[in-house]
Amino acid sequence: MARLVARVADDAARVGAGVAGIGVSTGGRVDAERGVVLESSALIEGWNDVPLAARLRERTGLSIRIDNDGHCAAIAERHFGHGRDVRSFVTVVVGTGIGGGVVLDGQLWRGARNAAGELGHLMVDVEGRPCACGGRGCVEAYASGSGLAERARELAAAGVLDLAGTSPLDAQALGRMASQGDAAARDLVAAGGRALGVALASLLNVFNPERIVLGGPVLRLGDAYLAPLRDTVARRTLSTQRDAADIVVSELEDAPLLGAAALVLFP
Ligand SMILES: [Zn+2]
Repeated sequence: MARLVARVADDAARVGAGVAGIGVSTGGRVDAERGVVLESSALIEGWNDVPLAARLRERTGLSIRIDNDGHCAAIAERHFGHGRDVRSFVTVVVGTGIGGGVVLDGQLWRGARNAAGELGHLMVDVEGRPCACGGRGCVEAYASGSGLAERARELAAAGVLDLAGTSPLDAQALGRMASQGDAAARDLVAAGGRALGVALASLLNVFNPERIVLGGPVLRLGDAYLAPLRDTVARRTLSTQRDAADIVVSELEDAPLLGAAALVLFP
């Protein structure tokens, strides 16, 4: 760790710059103020109550800031992306799960325990599909990469979808099937887009933002996912809120990492 920091410092010195600190973007719940990972995502099992900022500070002597990846993506849009020219916007990141952040009047809304922005658990079906959070009907179970894959497996078991030769089974694979004319795959991807559209309609109705910025690998599905999403938003949002907002796709590469850097650069 110390060696890596020394190397970065050397590289920076060569162009007349320095190292301001380390920003960390991580999955799960984070106490950004104390710099503690409270509860990790499924990707880093057992990483609970880890004082990450203190540990990194001990090893490097640098100032450390950490936050969760959804918040970091929103902060990146605020400083470098589609959030630069608006005061209020919502970032929705659709990957294996769904996360994001709500920026109101130029500030990320963190909530009482820095846990605001759990957009994947907006409910779109009262008695719907079970979600990893223990609830039911969360949009993540329908519109995320893992939700789409799970639904595809169910349809395959019911004989509706043929998944032979589809490995790994992810959103991109389903997108390829849809673009090659598989009607069941196309319907499945469209249903995912509609589910997220319902969730976005609720976000628009509640927050009345100027913009929604969509990001994450599932957005690479393109119009097969986006067209039904936009159509649903148009039909399910109150007209004042709908007319005030545009829905755009992020142009940032690695938005959470850019946001982590921004935590240090723009504290
Ligand atoms: Zn949930």
